[in-house]
Amino acid sequence: MSPKSTPVPLGAVQFRRCLLRWYRRHARDLPWRRTRDPYRVIVSEFMLQQTQVSRVELFYPRFLDRYPTIGHLARAQASEVRETWEGLGYYQRAANLHRLARVVVRELDGVIPDDPARLRTLPGVGRYTAGAVACFAYERPEATVDTNVARVIRRAYHPRLQGPGSAKRIWATAQAVLPTRGRTAWAFNQALMELGATVCTARVARCEICPVRAVCKTGRGKGEKGKRR
Ligand code: SF4
Repeated sequence: MSPKSTPVPLGAVQFRRCLLRWYRRHARDLPWRRTRDPYRVIVSEFMLQQTQVSRVELFYPRFLDRYPTIGHLARAQASEVRETWEGLGYYQRAANLHRLARVVVRELDGVIPDDPARLRTLPGVGRYTAGAVACFAYERPEATVDTNVARVIRRAYHPRLQGPGSAKRIWATAQAVLPTRGRTAWAFNQALMELGATVCTARVARCEICPVRAVCKTGRGKGEKGKRR
């Protein structure tokens, strides 16, 4: 991931503090948040790419029961992996995960890399998944910008941003506001996702209950009803 070049935005310290405090009280207890095992993290990230959390919560333990390690997955038949994925849809993810397991076992002694650039050379791993694995498994301070995080960053820091270059700007801000200490960065990225999934959602921005409202360019000064979008 590129080094920090964007200046830390105004109010970032308060943003972090308020978000982390809120997360400690409101975080959902999700199984992939209880582990730092890179294999388990990568399985959850592949599943979450296009599937709701509640559905992944059902399938995640089943998949790990069947393939408890990356070695088990690498040795499985493609048809068997597809069958285990049945019900989650978007089967290309299962095929990529299976290919990834085989590459990691064959070429990397079964060790999933911690470096985002290296991770991005693996099948099915894009910028988001690389950052997520580096941060959620290895506690590296890497930005993880999924749809939810992009929305929060946009509303909080760049409410008028549009056009080419928007995504790049959002990533740069997400990296600039990220705490540098790995464990704190882990919690901060999880908290941003949680906020985007439960408070600052695509359907409604519930600014009236939002922990970062005081430092959010969209939420600041809003009435009690929040803003519908
Ligand atoms: S204050 Fe409103 S717009 Fe800003 S992050 Fe919170 S919910 Fe989203």
